Amino acid sequence: MTEPLAPQYNPAAIESDLYRWWMERNLFAPAPRGTPYVVMMPPPNVTAVLHMGHGLNNTIQDVLVRFERMRGKAALWLPGTDHAGIATQNVVERLLAKEGTTRFDIGREAFVERVWAYVRETGATILDQLKALGCSADWSRTYFTLDEGLSRAVREVFVRLYERGLIYRGHYIVNWCPRCLTALSNEEADKEETDGHLWHFRYPLADGSGHVTVATTRPETMLGDAAVAVHPDDERYRALIGRELRLPVVDRLIPIVADEAVDPAFGTGAVKVTPAHDPTDFEIGKRHGLPSIDVMTPEARMSLAAPDRFQGLDRYEARKRVVDEFEAAGLLAKVEPHRHAVGHCYRCDTVVEPRLSEQWFVKMAPLARPALAAYREGRLRFVPERGGAEYAQWMENIRDWCISRQLWWGHRIPVWYCQDERCARIVASRTDVTRCPGCGGGVRQDEDVLDTWFSSWLVPFSSLGWPDATEDLRRFYPGDTLATAPEILFFWVARMVMSGCEFMGDIPFKTVYLHGTVRDTQHRKMSKSLGNGIDPLDVVEQFGADALRYALVAGSAVGTDVILDPNDIITSFAPGRNFANKLWNAGRFILSNLAGPTRPLAGRAKNVVRRDELSLADRWILARCEAAVVEVTDALERFRLNEAAAAAYRFVWSDLADWYIEQIKPRLYGDQPGGDVARAVAAQTFDVGLRLLHPVMPFVTEALWKRFPGRHPDASISTSPWPRSDRRASDSDALRRFGLIQELVTAVRQIRAENSVAPGQNVRVALGNLGPDARRTLTAELGTITRLAKVSDLHFGESTERVGGHAVLTDGTAVFVPLGDAIDVERECSRLSAEVERLLQLITGQEKKLGNQQFTSKAPAAVVEREREKLASWREQHEVLARKRALLGCGNA
Ligand SMILES: [Zn+2]
Ligand SMILES: [Zn+2]
Repeated sequence: MTEPLAPQYNPAAIESDLYRWWMERNLFAPAPRGTPYVVMMPPPNVTAVLHMGHGLNNTIQDVLVRFERMRGKAALWLPGTDHAGIATQNVVERLLAKEGTTRFDIGREAFVERVWAYVRETGATILDQLKALGCSADWSRTYFTLDEGLSRAVREVFVRLYERGLIYRGHYIVNWCPRCLTALSNEEADKEETDGHLWHFRYPLADGSGHVTVATTRPETMLGDAAVAVHPDDERYRALIGRELRLPVVDRLIPIVADEAVDPAFGTGAVKVTPAHDPTDFEIGKRHGLPSIDVMTPEARMSLAAPDRFQGLDRYEARKRVVDEFEAAGLLAKVEPHRHAVGHCYRCDTVVEPRLSEQWFVKMAPLARPALAAYREGRLRFVPERGGAEYAQWMENIRDWCISRQLWWGHRIPVWYCQDERCARIVASRTDVTRCPGCGGGVRQDEDVLDTWFSSWLVPFSSLGWPDATEDLRRFYPGDTLATAPEILFFWVARMVMSGCEFMGDIPFKTVYLHGTVRDTQHRKMSKSLGNGIDPLDVVEQFGADALRYALVAGSAVGTDVILDPNDIITSFAPGRNFANKLWNAGRFILSNLAGPTRPLAGRAKNVVRRDELSLADRWILARCEAAVVEVTDALERFRLNEAAAAAYRFVWSDLADWYIEQIKPRLYGDQPGGDVARAVAAQTFDVGLRLLHPVMPFVTEALWKRFPGRHPDASISTSPWPRSDRRASDSDALRRFGLIQELVTAVRQIRAENSVAPGQNVRVALGNLGPDARRTLTAELGTITRLAKVSDLHFGESTERVGGHAVLTDGTAVFVPLGDAIDVERECSRLSAEVERLLQLITGQEKKLGNQQFTSKAPAAVVEREREKLASWREQHEVLARKRALLGCGNA
């Protein structure tokens, strides 16, 4: 690491070496002592491929973890992968389909074996991909939700909840995916607004004395109707309650019942009741003792309970046929377009079918109570706060959680059924059961597996060794921050709070930071199916991990989404790469000037830099540095990661590299005294700048920081102390006075640029309306001004010349730059004249075009608008040039 810095920053040449170096030194493990800071990584699916959403989520976590690690905390970022029941099973099922076979053909055992083989082969690739981003998770603690330890935790939790009566089995209407052939939780059935229809059907009274009209969005379910219900107080139907209808198509008699659940204001006020296919109807059916007629197979085809001619038809074919038959019988009252929310399987997007089936559920209300209290009492905090309101609303309206899945990949439900019908005992057990504990007879284990989230809701403690009382558990539970995309607030975050309260007696984290989503410039979520994604690893390869991280952090203000342009990744990621280059170049300059150890700026050493040795620029950069420390620290504490990045950027790029280093060059080159002081100040402020930036850009900062002379070869910036605020360094006098010099230099540079003064050409400057304070400051820093603004003569007082550029500084100082001798006025005038002439022609032509009715009425509005904008911009340029001509005293064009 002692070879000289390459002239160009090349991330590919250093990133993987640095990462290996960090790993070899075990820098990501929590320090053995100190206050813990714990972050649980949302475990990616074991078969997942890294996308920009992971990139954002993990960069944010890494920034927080690196920040707290540098602040001296025993930081633990705990990684893992999720076995992802449905998702992984689907992947392997697709592989089997390619081989012309199915999971049913090869059987459960062989299938599970096959999934394990697949997971071992491809799994956890995503964790290696996270390493390429620089993520500083403690990989030695990586877990998998199907590990033995975590599986033991799952069983323990199941059995405890079962024994407390909080897990039960029952026949209920669940969300069913006819493609995945499994039940889903309410959260797994994504509601999507869909354009459908509302069909109005007439059901004749059995005695032929009239009919009742009902409406439905799913006509095929009428084959399973068991009644029609009306509100008991609905005058229109009071006389009909208890009478019978003849169900069309099926030709079966069904009663008219009265039930409070019916909304008299909705539709006709009479509703069909299909207990086997709708959750509300199921409840009504229970209250009135109605039969549940299940007319569909698990694949959503019509079952044997449907009339013969419907059996085997797909649900949508059956729908069409039912409608046709109503129409043919003259019983179709009307059809209306109808927009409504339809559930879709979150794994395969198939329309979910509400289906009656026997499933396992968790009673959630008792678990929600302490989790809601933690939020209400302010122990659990959300950033941004609106996440808390959503959390509370979900908790208040919580429904029981369907946890059984008709899959083979996952934690098998730890319940055994006695095979002896007279005993029929059901046992939930922590260990496998082979004999019935009641009668000693044979047993059969439940076929289903648990919802994937039934293991991930436990990770804040199961990943630390629970149910054993491990040292890790004692030290690292509860954790601190959970950073996640809002999509899994209910799936995961809320449930972790509940399990933490129930099994650990405390919430698992104190703050939930809900960050935005990565979207394209049309605000569409990046996704494989839309083809609008950006591969984070491509970005790392082309621009470096630091550039990727910088773009993600700089773009993520609290409560907003991150916008990236998949068609223009240069615009998105070049700023970060340019910043890394700027740091590299500043570092090269500073480090090449630090021949030996520098003098200390504080402390009791004999050679300590005394305050009276500091120049105005030294005092100014130390004050700016102090301000940056306060700003960056405060922003990170408040999860304003983008503000932290911006403050560090301003300090390093503008203050340090563009101003301070430029200002001290004469001292460093030895033609002015105080070179050792400048070196000491540059070294310290650059060191601070690198540390402030390290959480966001870990690689380039480490590469430079390690090169400081005298650095111990094992020292890493990632475990160096976070810069401390030192109020003695704040210096409003230096900020104000150096600020005035910056303003003056900037004004002169701007006048030079606007008037095309050659870069090597010196200019004269006259300052009017000068206060005594400004005069003192500018006199003292004459050298800085003349050098940085290329000024040959600074005149205190008004100028008598006419030709030149003006500016006024914020303190009222009038700046005049005479240009008569700095540029060839005659040539500049004729150049400007030609330009003004050209613009005038353009403007005249454009005015004619826009004055033409033919054009403005026929062209698309956007085109006309663009033409108007062009005209406005030409007029503006024309004015600017005309003003310049006046300043230079050019004659009439
Ligand atoms: Zn599905
Ligand atoms: Zn038994």
